[in-house]
Amino acid sequence: MTSSLSSPWADMSEPQQFDVVVVGGGIAGLVAANRAAQLNLKAVVLEQGEDEKYLCNTRFTGGTLHICLREITLDEETLRLKILESGGGFIQPEIAQVIAREGRRVVRWLQDEGMRFMRASASEYHKWVLAPPGRSRPGLDWEGRAGDVLLRTLEARLISRGGKVVRGARADTLIMDGGRCVGVVAEQRAGKTPYRARAVFIADGGFSGNAELVERYVSRRPERLKQRGAGTGKGDGMRMAEAAGAALVGMDRFYGHTLSVDAMKNDMLWPYPYLDSLVTAGIVVDSGGRRFVDEGRGGVYVANAVAALEDPQSAHVIFDQAIWEKAGRNGLIAANPHVEREGGTIHRADTLDALAGLAGLSADALTRTILQYNEAVSGKEQPGILSPPRYREKFDACPILKGPFYALPMCAGITYTMGGIQVNANAQAVRPDGSAIGGLYALGSAAGGIEGGPEVAYVGGLAKAGVTALMAAEHLAAEKI
Ligand SMILES: Cc1cc2nc3c(=O)[nH]c(=O)nc-3n(C[C@H](O)[C@H](O)[C@H](O)COP(=O)(O)OP(=O)(O)OC[C@H]3O[C@@H](n4cnc5c(N)ncnc54)[C@H](O)[C@@H]3O)c2cc1C
Repeated sequence: MTSSLSSPWADMSEPQQFDVVVVGGGIAGLVAANRAAQLNLKAVVLEQGEDEKYLCNTRFTGGTLHICLREITLDEETLRLKILESGGGFIQPEIAQVIAREGRRVVRWLQDEGMRFMRASASEYHKWVLAPPGRSRPGLDWEGRAGDVLLRTLEARLISRGGKVVRGARADTLIMDGGRCVGVVAEQRAGKTPYRARAVFIADGGFSGNAELVERYVSRRPERLKQRGAGTGKGDGMRMAEAAGAALVGMDRFYGHTLSVDAMKNDMLWPYPYLDSLVTAGIVVDSGGRRFVDEGRGGVYVANAVAALEDPQSAHVIFDQAIWEKAGRNGLIAANPHVEREGGTIHRADTLDALAGLAGLSADALTRTILQYNEAVSGKEQPGILSPPRYREKFDACPILKGPFYALPMCAGITYTMGGIQVNANAQAVRPDGSAIGGLYALGSAAGGIEGGPEVAYVGGLAKAGVTALMAAEHLAAEKI
């Protein structure tokens, strides 16, 4: 495969003319470029990474195509309602509909491109997993696995269709003409290089890799969050789109998981194992020994609450032996035994007083919190006396009764930002008044309004990327200008 560094394009005085310039070579960008090429559009992908195997979240992905953790090929109505329910009013009905309708087509389309899927476990969630999946072991494991194979397959397909990926090209400024986007200028080693086109697809992966933006929108202490992805999304796309008049939406939420705090310095503790099963069975307390989040909303929700703390490394998940033995063993790479085996800190003691001492928490406060929680969750009714409340429909709340008791210091792992450029159902970037900006689209993790909101709705990063990519390419191909 050729690299942009030896490309003659950068030396040309006249800008190259394309139908579409795609910013970012992750799954969103490569699906979109290939679909555009299938529809006879001339497509080029600009990718800032210079390496043959440039890093991005797609390279690291676990590879499960799902919608709201449900099987992606379920009937459209079931999925549509699930998305709307998860969003709690945040996700617009036409967006929910297009994701529910087109998700299954992403799977078929990828199969037609040569990708294989397999079932990774008996759970419904694991029905459609890119093959070969990562091995069930802690730490990163991407070489020759799901996302790596996907990117290489899609790049080869693009080249066979006459398109290409230009590496080492960081898109920096949109070229606008009369309110329409007609290209982009990229920073390359050879200097600023203009690429003119009928449209630009922004697929840059969002802004989780930009500490300044994460501080502005997500957490006061971005340096105390664990980057649980490639960190290659720097927010260039949203900066460019905002300058062109696009609305930004849902900026304060991210997809991620709760991790051992030792993941900050121990690479065997991220992206797996994560602590979500423990978190949703036991309780999470702050440095004052008090609950501060409804654990029953799930691990992604709790990770967002941990990130929002004054000190995002000050929380502990608290549980007892029964939870450790049951919930702790949930998942393909379970917290029990992997956290401890890989060197993650676990405080364990026979009494709550001793546990509080080990964890540096107030024994009185911790005991009070646990007694109140136990009393509330032991009743059959919803534990209304708890503040924050404990939602029990998705994850049952287990009382913390019998030693040894556990305190596991945790942190928030940020995988990708959910907010971004507001899109409509065609993946077009829209202005605050809802009108579409001609020639400008946002895909995958660059697109906002599809995930997040007050309930921190997790719809699915791969499904979102695949659907927005197909929609953008097909809309552009059908557009007459
Ligand atoms: C460990 C892990 C496990 C995951 N597991 C799952 C899973 O099982 N199921 C699921 O649905 N989702 C999962 N996800 C999320 C999913 O992988 C992502 O949502 C998806 O890959 C995002 O694709 P993307 O194309 O939007 O972004 P990316 O894959 O991040 O690609 C964006 C690309 O844009 C490039 N770029 C950035 N700025 C510029 C610029 N200015 N100019 C040019 N190029 C630029 C970047 O270098 C990058 O290559 C997981 C993610 C991780 C990290």
